[in-house]
Amino acid sequence: MDRMHELVKQLNEYAYQYYTLDNPTVSDVEYDRLYDELLALEKASGVVLDDSPTKRVGDVVLKKFNTVKHLGRLYSLDKCQTKEAMNEWLDKLISANHNKMPEVSLEYKFDGLTINMLYEDGKLVRAATRGNGIEGEDVTEQVKTIRCVPLSIAYKGQLEVQGEGIMLLSELAKYNAREDVTPLKNARNGVAGAIRNLDPKVTAERKLEVICYNVNYIPGVRFQTGKEMIDFLKENKFKTSDFYRLISTKDELLQGLDDILEKRPNLDFLIDGAVVKINDVNTREEYGFTEKFPKWAIAFKFPAEEVTTTLRDVIWQVSRTGKLNPIAVLDPVDLAGVTVSRATLSNISEIKRKDIKINSRVFIRRSNDVIPEITGIAEHTKDSKEIEAPTICPACGSPVEWQGVFVKCTNKNCAPAIISALSHFVSRDAMDIEGLSEKTLELLYREGKVSNYTDIYSLTEEDLTGLDSFKDKKISNTIKAIQDSRHTTLDKLLFAIGIPNIGKKSAKQLADEFKTLDGVIAATKEQLLSIEDFGDIMAQGVVDYFQNEKNVEHLNILLERGVVIEEKAVASGALVGKKVVLTGSLPTLKRSQAKELIEANGGSCFDSVSKAVNLVVAGEDAGSKLDKAKKLGIEIIDEAQLFALIKG
Ligand code: NAD
Repeated sequence: MDRMHELVKQLNEYAYQYYTLDNPTVSDVEYDRLYDELLALEKASGVVLDDSPTKRVGDVVLKKFNTVKHLGRLYSLDKCQTKEAMNEWLDKLISANHNKMPEVSLEYKFDGLTINMLYEDGKLVRAATRGNGIEGEDVTEQVKTIRCVPLSIAYKGQLEVQGEGIMLLSELAKYNAREDVTPLKNARNGVAGAIRNLDPKVTAERKLEVICYNVNYIPGVRFQTGKEMIDFLKENKFKTSDFYRLISTKDELLQGLDDILEKRPNLDFLIDGAVVKINDVNTREEYGFTEKFPKWAIAFKFPAEEVTTTLRDVIWQVSRTGKLNPIAVLDPVDLAGVTVSRATLSNISEIKRKDIKINSRVFIRRSNDVIPEITGIAEHTKDSKEIEAPTICPACGSPVEWQGVFVKCTNKNCAPAIISALSHFVSRDAMDIEGLSEKTLELLYREGKVSNYTDIYSLTEEDLTGLDSFKDKKISNTIKAIQDSRHTTLDKLLFAIGIPNIGKKSAKQLADEFKTLDGVIAATKEQLLSIEDFGDIMAQGVVDYFQNEKNVEHLNILLERGVVIEEKAVASGALVGKKVVLTGSLPTLKRSQAKELIEANGGSCFDSVSKAVNLVVAGEDAGSKLDKAKKLGIEIIDEAQLFALIKG
């Protein structure tokens, strides 16, 4: 009982911070873990305390907003976390349905803020947050600023529509890149803060969307199925999800969950799971509701991609360009099945903007890179202290200089920078030399055998003999790997030599544009600026790099030492000169395969739709890119048509 009282108190405090203040201090996984512990104790003891969060939906209603009563009650969703639990839930459905699986819908579980919109005589008259499910806050003016919410609809009867307010991740990134704002912790927080804000201008600025999934109240109308309800929403021009599947076998459902998990990293919005709902409305009614959720639906929650932990220290790592990169040292924590103890922190200005301090608790999120990023502060502690940029290089003790928001070591021969540049040179996407690890390169550097990348091509078996862990076989393999790497392509070489701000993609663009090494060396700033996504800093960086005679000399030495740049075959095929965008999932090809196919036939692939694009290949669940292509009148084809086009 003591533990139950403790848990209820703690969970209610967290819920207050999350729902009422829009300022969570723990991650959802941690909240859910305590919640599940409470649930288990309640089940074992048969006692549910009056103020237990398991009894209620959402939380208190903020004072500053007017309170409104929903016409239809709003519920939360029952949840499961494993496929076994999902299987059990389905088994129960099946045995209650004469051993046949009832048809269910599979939808995204959007991670945003529930909005309930009331229409009368075809007009939006009110919008409210979910609140405690019975009463919510009146946010009509705020919701009216959201472009995709129809202010008037064809249906004239009284109607409440429920949807999820979301902030697109691309909008979140744009917002957080602004200098004049405090960065938002995540998209969910961005929505909650925008809608539960007394100034509707703030809502408008964040470019939100509301994705509708339920008709919550509609007197005198009876839909036969959930699907019919979704179609009704579409007819009345509400925005609904691009992903909606009707399913009637367990296998299909489990496959559907996998499909959603696979799509998740590429979606432009947050989802924290999938929702499964019985489609037939009569069956739904047979099942009914608990106090908190419908018994005919369940949410499958995905592993969390965000957790909180304590930041213990910041170390400044010298990069290959001499920049000192702040790396966060964290109390180890499990993030989606991986123990994480390091995270990136970009630069000191970001650190200050996000108010990140040592000994504070921080939110960390999995990003596309291997190393996760710190998205914001959960809580400061009494031991929190400011993070300061170093004044001398921690590796070599030389003074640092500021370059915009970055600090840089002034020593041109700072060892870690050189070693890291060498390590980049041999890496897989660069010259691809297996066997030369960072540790080996460091030893070779310290022994004076390699001082810049050209020296790699004069290494002999003798140079490698006696190095830690280098036995005969490894020595000959490494020398062979160096030999083999001599045949390379222009883009790989341009990436390898470490031109400032030129990554894999931009190196390829340079190679495509100028075709030869001499062409790139001779490129003018104007020519460089005409390449897509090349800004002033990048263009100037390339020009400066090749104006430095030493860099050109190094390249000449490489060629003298036998490096050969293979000519790329001149593109031919049905798609020569075509700029192509891929969207949605194609029936047979994976995204990377489709890209390869298009490029092999002379086309080039782009990420976003613009007037310059000639062709869009669209698959299932294609979203905003497809809409934009339609608007711009760009030719749209499916996978079969792509094959036909290539075959000619
Ligand atoms: P929930 O958000 O996990 O699920 C229910 C909600 O899902 C619905 O109300 C609806 O708004 C939404 N939803 C999204 N897509 C939907 C779809 N296609 N169909 C139907 N509904 C859809 O549950 P909840 O009760 O709103 O919130 C509880 C959760 O909030 C907890 O599990 C926890 O993760 C989080 N929480 C966190 C803290 C914290 O401090 N971090 C505190 C309180 C709650």
